[in-house]
This record gives sequence, C-alpha cells and structure tokens, in this order.
Amino acid sequence: MRLVTFRLGGESRVGVVVGDEVADIGAVDPRIAEMVDLIAAGSDRLAELAASAAPVASLDDVQLLAPVRPKKNVFAVGRNYLEHVREVPGPDSATRPPPENPIIFTKPPTSIIGPGEAIVTANDPSGTTDYEGELAVVIGRPGKRIPAPQAWDHVFGYTILNDVTARALQRKHVQWVIGKGPDTFCPMGPWIVTVDALPDVTRSEVRTEVNGELRQRGSVADLIFDIPTLIATLSRVMTLEPGDVIATGTPSGVGAGFDPPRYLWPGDVVSVSVDGIGTLTNPVI
Ligand code: MG
Repeated sequence: MRLVTFRLGGESRVGVVVGDEVADIGAVDPRIAEMVDLIAAGSDRLAELAASAAPVASLDDVQLLAPVRPKKNVFAVGRNYLEHVREVPGPDSATRPPPENPIIFTKPPTSIIGPGEAIVTANDPSGTTDYEGELAVVIGRPGKRIPAPQAWDHVFGYTILNDVTARALQRKHVQWVIGKGPDTFCPMGPWIVTVDALPDVTRSEVRTEVNGELRQRGSVADLIFDIPTLIATLSRVMTLEPGDVIATGTPSGVGAGFDPPRYLWPGDVVSVSVDGIGTLTNPVI
C-alpha cells in the first residue's frame, strides 16, 4: 500500500494510492486528520479505511506533501555506510574506521518539505549545501526497549528522505543540528510504502541523481548499523511513537566527497530513488 499526504481544496488530507488515483481516507473517518493518526489506528483499521476510501483525484493532479510529520524531530544516522565514512577527504580517510556506535542526530519539523518543493540554499549562509539520499523507516507500533530481534514488528513502512546538509556548518558546530536543520533541508516522500508491499527492504538500492547524473548508489544491505539495531538503540532510552521517522544514513557519493566538492546550487534538481518505493525529486533554488 502506498499512503500519501496530499493537498485538496487547500486542505492537507491523508490518502491511499489506488492505481493512478488518490483515495481520500480522511473522508471516511474525519478523526484521521494526518498520517500519524492513520498509523496509530493500527493495521486492521488501516485496511478497513483503505478499502472504503473513494478516489478523489488523479495522482498526477494532486500536490503531494511530505507523507508524515512525526511528533518528534526526524531521527537521522551519520556515517552508516563504510564507503561514505571514508570518502570525505582527509589524511586518514582511506583507513578511517567505522563508528563504534550509531551516530544519531535529529532534523527539526521546520526542515521537512514534500516532493517537488524547493530546497532553499539561501537558508545555508555557508554556501555548502549538500545532498544525502537515504532510506527512511517509519515506525508503526509504539515501543520502548524494543529488542533488535523484535524491531521489524514496529516498522510501519518506508519512505525516501534527502538529508540535505549545510556541510560547512556541520563541521563548524560540533552538534550537527545546525548544519542538518535549516528550513527545507529535509525533503521527504513521495509516499510511505507499507511493509507488506516491501517485505525485504535490505534488497533495495538507494540512488541519488543531480541533474540526471548518478552521484550515489548503495545497498541497504550495507548499512553498518542495520534497521533493528537503530530501533533498539533509540528505543533503549526513549519511546518510539507511531509516525516517528528514522533516516538510515547515506551511501558514498555526496558532494563533499568530490575534489573539488560538488555542492548544490540554484537551478539544480536532486532525485533520490529507492527500489520498491519510488523517486523523491526536489528542485534547488
Ligand atoms: Mg545523512
């Protein structure tokens, strides 16, 4: 199932993609005002609602918004592919060891934008705006202290996320939130694919193109800290809630890895694709 948040008549609605149309779930149950409500309703209720929702528009005719706005900041994982750990130039780069523990940071809700919305480089005073194509996990069943072997039971689905980064600010401020948090620096979408439709995401590849040129290509199977480990690590100390989002890290090929670096500039277009999900495309202004 592909679930979307979309704009209809000036309102944000929650829907399901049926063929090439969007069916309005909020029209069936007005309590489902946003995606977190639908996820929290549980899989049985989701199936009922999706089955009774009526198509309201063609997918091509609606504006899709970021599929989910979590109740807390978006979680993201730094340095979670070995080739990416070693790509950023430095004296030790070829032998740089992987992190011993997951490096977790967050991106604020004000950074979230949907497919087709513009990444605004003016929000990065350092002029080093970089892309990071990533698979993102959406939490379904809430939980705390979730053991890794049970973590998959808490995954609702997947989406695509571009962890856009003001690279010089990331380095300048040791806590990454300033470099990772500018407005519009968290494109997400185009939809959530539920786990039943993508039973083994570890077989998927993540690819990023800038202006049609392939820059990043990596396999989810190559994550240093896999999805169960990330869920276990976070939930060891905090409650994970329906709709929480975990961006799993980016493969090699970021702009900062080139010499000279190849950052994003107004007029560029960035597309991130994940097998089994689709493509998230955003212009840069
Ligand atoms: Mg990242």
